[in-house]
Amino acid sequence: MPSKIRTRFAPSPTGYLHVGGARTALFAWLYARHHNGTFILRVEDTDLERSSEESIQAILDGMHWLGLNYDEGPFYQTQRFDRYREVIQQFLKDGHAYRCYCSKERLEKLRETQTINKEKPRYDGLCRELNRNDLHSPHVIRFKNPQTGTVIFDDLIRGKISVCNAELDDLIIARTDGVPTYNFCVVVDDFDMKITDVIRGDDHINNTPRQMNMLAAMGATIPRYAHVPMILGSDGKRLSKRHGAVSVMQFCEDGYLPDALMNYLVRLGWSHGDQEIFSRDEMIQYFDVSHINNSAAMFNTEKLDWLNQHYLKTKNPAEFKDAFVDQLKSLGINTTDDTLLIAVIDAQKERVKTLKEMASSSRYFFEDELTFDEAAVKKFLTPEIKPLLIAAKNIFEKLSEWTKESLHQAIIQIAEAQGVKMGQLAQPLRVALTGSTISPSIDLTMQLIGKKKVLARLERALIFH
Ligand code: GLU
Repeated sequence: MPSKIRTRFAPSPTGYLHVGGARTALFAWLYARHHNGTFILRVEDTDLERSSEESIQAILDGMHWLGLNYDEGPFYQTQRFDRYREVIQQFLKDGHAYRCYCSKERLEKLRETQTINKEKPRYDGLCRELNRNDLHSPHVIRFKNPQTGTVIFDDLIRGKISVCNAELDDLIIARTDGVPTYNFCVVVDDFDMKITDVIRGDDHINNTPRQMNMLAAMGATIPRYAHVPMILGSDGKRLSKRHGAVSVMQFCEDGYLPDALMNYLVRLGWSHGDQEIFSRDEMIQYFDVSHINNSAAMFNTEKLDWLNQHYLKTKNPAEFKDAFVDQLKSLGINTTDDTLLIAVIDAQKERVKTLKEMASSSRYFFEDELTFDEAAVKKFLTPEIKPLLIAAKNIFEKLSEWTKESLHQAIIQIAEAQGVKMGQLAQPLRVALTGSTISPSIDLTMQLIGKKKVLARLERALIFH
C-alpha cells in the first residue's frame, strides 16, 4: 500500500442519496478509516440539467445522518471548469487530444454502416491525424486513446480485468460548446485529489479503462479500483422506488436508527465470518474490501427491521430521544418532558420495530384526547364492566404511591375482590386508558400515564360507554 490511502465518494446530485449510493459511500469511508486514510466528498454536478441544489442537500443530509464524515470537500465539479479547460489545452499541446470536426450526420452514417456490418459502433478516428486547428468551425475535442496494447487492472473485488485498446475509441472530452465531459472531469479530479483508491458502483466498470488511459496521459499513478456490485430488490430486479423506501432520509423518516441502517448496509455484500452485528468501531477494524461479494446483493427489509429492533433495544435511549421527538412531532405531538420520553422509550422499545411505530403506539402517553379503537370499545367497555371499573377507580384514587409496583398490587387486589382474572380487568382498563388493547404492561402503562389522567380517563369511560 502507498503511504496514505485517499479515496472518495463522488455522487451525481440528480436525486436523493439512495441506499446503493450510501453503501458505496460506506465502503469507501470504511476503507479510508480502516487504513487511516482520507475520505473525500466530491459532488459530480456537471450535468446541469439533471443536478439540483435539493439533491446536493439531500446527499449531504443523508451522509450526515449516517455519520459518514469526510475529511476533504465537498468539492463541486462545476467550480472546477477552469482547471478542466487547462488540462484540455495541455492534452492538445502534448498530442493527447485533437479537435474533431466530424458532423453529426457523418457520425450517424458511420454508426449505421457499422451496425449493418455487425461492428461495434465507434468513432473511426478520421480527424485524429488531420491536426486541424481551426478554432472557428464547430468541433469537439477527443482524447487520443492508444490504438494498441491492453489496459489491465486488478479490481479489488472483481479480480483481473483487461480490455484491448483497439476496442476503445477516442472519447469526446470537450463538447462543441467547450463544456468538458463527465469521464474527463472524473479523471482530472482523481488526479488532482491524488486518489489512490476508487471505490464505486460497478455501473462504472466500462469507464475504467478509458479513465486509466487518460490518467496515464496526465502522468498519474493509476489508482486501485474496486467496483461494488449493485443492490437488487427482493424480486431480483435493480433496487428502485417500487420496492419501497430507497432514499436514506426516507429510512430516517420511517423511524430507523442510523446505526441500524449502517449495520444493514455493511452486511449487504460484505461479511466478516458470520458476525451480523457490528459497532462502527468493529466495522472499521474488520473492513476488508476483498471480502466484498462480487455478485449483486439483495435488499431485505425484514433483516433491516431486525437490526433496527436490536439497536432500539440495546442503545441508550438518550441517544435517539430526539429522533423519537421528531416522530411524535410529525403526529402533531409536542413534548419536552424528557423523563417521560425516556420512560416511554424504555417501555416500548421491545415492542416495536421502528421509532415511527413507537410514536404511533405511544400517543396516549402524551395526548389528552384518546383515539378509540371502536372494536375494542365494543368488546371490552360493556355495561357489565362498569361495576368493575368503578371499583378499580375507587382503589386507584386512594393509592398514596403511584408506581408500577403499587399499581400491580392494587390490580391484583381489585381482581381478587371482584372475583375476576387479571386479564379480565387489565383489558377493559387498557381500552379505557389507552383507547386500544395494545400497550405495555398495564401497571407500567398506568404509572406513565399518571394518576390524574388515569382517573380522568376512567371517569370518562364510565360516562360514555
Ligand atoms: N458520479 C458517479 C455516480 O454517481 C460516480 C463516479 C465515480 O465514482 O467515479 O454514479
